[in-house]
Amino acid sequence: MVSTSIETRLFINGKFRPSSSNETFDLLSAKSGLLLAKVYEATTEDVDDAVAAAKAAFPAWAALSPYERGRYLVRLADLIAESDAALARLEAESMGRPVSTYFDATAGSKYFRYFSEAAYPQGGSSLNTPGFVNITLKQPVGVVAAIIPWNAPLVFFCKKLAPALAAGNTVVLKSSEKAPLTSLYVAGLAQKAGFPPGVLNVLSGHGPISGAALASHMDVRALTFTGSNRTGKLIAKMATDSNMKKLIFELGGKSPAIIFDDADIDAAARDTQFSIQLISGQTCMANSRIYVQRNIAESFIDKFKTLFTSARLGDPTDPKVNHGPQADKIQHATVLRYIELGKKTGKLITEEQSASGLYINPTIFRDVPEDAQIMKEEIFGPVVIINMFDTEAEAVANANNTEHGLYAAVYTKDLDRAMRVASRLEAGTVGVNCTSPTKGDDMPFGGQKGSGLQRESYIHSMETFMETKSVLIKVAGL
Ligand code: NAD
Repeated sequence: MVSTSIETRLFINGKFRPSSSNETFDLLSAKSGLLLAKVYEATTEDVDDAVAAAKAAFPAWAALSPYERGRYLVRLADLIAESDAALARLEAESMGRPVSTYFDATAGSKYFRYFSEAAYPQGGSSLNTPGFVNITLKQPVGVVAAIIPWNAPLVFFCKKLAPALAAGNTVVLKSSEKAPLTSLYVAGLAQKAGFPPGVLNVLSGHGPISGAALASHMDVRALTFTGSNRTGKLIAKMATDSNMKKLIFELGGKSPAIIFDDADIDAAARDTQFSIQLISGQTCMANSRIYVQRNIAESFIDKFKTLFTSARLGDPTDPKVNHGPQADKIQHATVLRYIELGKKTGKLITEEQSASGLYINPTIFRDVPEDAQIMKEEIFGPVVIINMFDTEAEAVANANNTEHGLYAAVYTKDLDRAMRVASRLEAGTVGVNCTSPTKGDDMPFGGQKGSGLQRESYIHSMETFMETKSVLIKVAGL
């Protein structure tokens, strides 16, 4: 069991407290399968308390100048950066993320640092109409709810809360039941940073209870969600049926990478295997479908397979390990089920599974029909499909043959072709001679089609957490 110094209570109105029912849920270690912590499960009453605290804190927080709010954000950024090793260990123990691939405290603290100043220029505009001076005001929306997944909990905590808070909103965050400890740890840092009570509240618990209560709450004005498409659809209905919340959704992916025969094959193999192997395939933008031009296919597959199957499986707290277990039994069973499905439709070119515990060996299928279930659905594991193509048109059509549209990549030295393909791929982000996760932090990030609503990033996130109000001022004699 985890040491008693690990926080497992809810963070409401500036204080840690047990849930109103005093009930807890078991958090098992992905590494050992043993009980890691008993975490308090938020009830709908706790959700009401957290939203009420955020609502009460809103007027004073919104009235601060961007500079004054920014000072809290900078203090939190420093504390997150200083906690790098502790946070890496917490995530390795709980959801199996190898410490060797942990860069989230650096990325997370950058969000708070950036947004500590980003609110300064967030003004409106003025327009001249005869007889009027018309202006727009940019104003915070009020209480923002954030519901986040488990695969990179610190990044999502920071990516959502930093812009929402900087814009003058107050926040209630619900973490994933699979990874609650990171968010509670950062809530402790926010307490240390001196955030006023109620400005930032953190709840742990299961989606259908506290998540649903937040999504339907009448005092929540905006909902920022990262998670699966299935949950996104449920939440969208609750959010609109209740009070038409503003929605920011980052959902799943089934990202394609297209490799043409003039590409640097070594670089393409290296990048694409890193993308699908990172966090054992549990990233939204992983290139899980690779389309390679037929005349270089065998050479590409050999190189890719050598790299992918040399992943170092083991204890995620060991710095030499780069491939940890799946996050929990459910994820593990889901990935194994897809592998069995894959064997019925495609050709498995890696060994049968031999890993024990919650580990999955890197798995490659080739020559899978486009309409097979494993081509359509997000597997969220270290499983990749490699198919061949002959023409550019065929590659683009197959790459776009999905309801997802988060990320796509194209590898070629022909600039005309790269730009043609990039403009035709249906994805929120396209990498040219690079693939996920090499997204630019200052570029808008989000999904086309079923992969999301709105865009997140440095400057773009600020807009989504603000209302634009037109004020029409009639001026006599103008
Ligand atoms: P999930 O949808 O199961 O859960 C996400 C969050 O929603 C959790 O906090 C969960 O408790 C909550 N939830 C579940 N059911 C709910 C309900 N009925 N009402 C309210 N809340 C509910 O997703 P997950 O398994 O935690 O995360 C993996 C998914 O997230 C994958 O599909 C992945 O692609 C996606 N993801 C997307 C991005 C992106 O930026 N687009 C990034 C990371 C992960």
